[in-house]
Amino acid sequence: MSAPTVTLASGNAHKCEEFEAMLGMPVRSLKDVPDCPEFVEDGDSFEANALIKARGLRDFTGGWALADDSGLAVDILEGAPGIHSARYAGEHGNDAANNQLLLKKLAGADDRTARFVCVLALCGPDGEEWVIRGECVGQIAKAASGEAGFGYDPLFHPEGYDKSFAELGEEVKHKISHRSVALEALLAHPDQPLARFLG
Ligand code: IMP
Repeated sequence: MSAPTVTLASGNAHKCEEFEAMLGMPVRSLKDVPDCPEFVEDGDSFEANALIKARGLRDFTGGWALADDSGLAVDILEGAPGIHSARYAGEHGNDAANNQLLLKKLAGADDRTARFVCVLALCGPDGEEWVIRGECVGQIAKAASGEAGFGYDPLFHPEGYDKSFAELGEEVKHKISHRSVALEALLAHPDQPLARFLG
């Protein structure tokens, strides 16, 4: 059976290429879907927000839609910044301010355990729905280090490494990241709805 095209609920071409390579099937981005409405991510969990985007896109295109929702959850902050990761310090996407606020919240804390979370939602034209979570556990450092990556990467030391994601770079990150874990789990599961199209 030939592979369908999947649309990713993101305008980020780089993310799209990554998913295309990992899935082994064509993935188009929101840039290829003119007039697509913006989906309001007002859910109270990563799962809810990923589903809002994937369902909305599936309903709009009538085809397969994939959405991811991700963020950082810190244990002693009861999962914060969580779904608010991108705008923890107020301004959406201000990574420096977000990192600074996180360091302030953890000042003096001994337990600095945290996890990056990625939830993938996949919705199909015949009502197929699949939601899967990937996590990458680590520690929040006491100071930022490294230049690679984005977001909280300079503060996050994944388990088994004494360097931050921003120091370790893409090669390591792609092997162990929350996104890779979620996608691998999705692809490995025999019941997931794209299984019939994959070799
Ligand atoms: P998004 O859902 O992929 O847009 O991610 C939401 C926010 O979570 C980002 O703006 C980052 O602050 C944080 N985040 C998600 N994934 C990562 C990552 O791999 N590294 C660093 N920060 C991340």
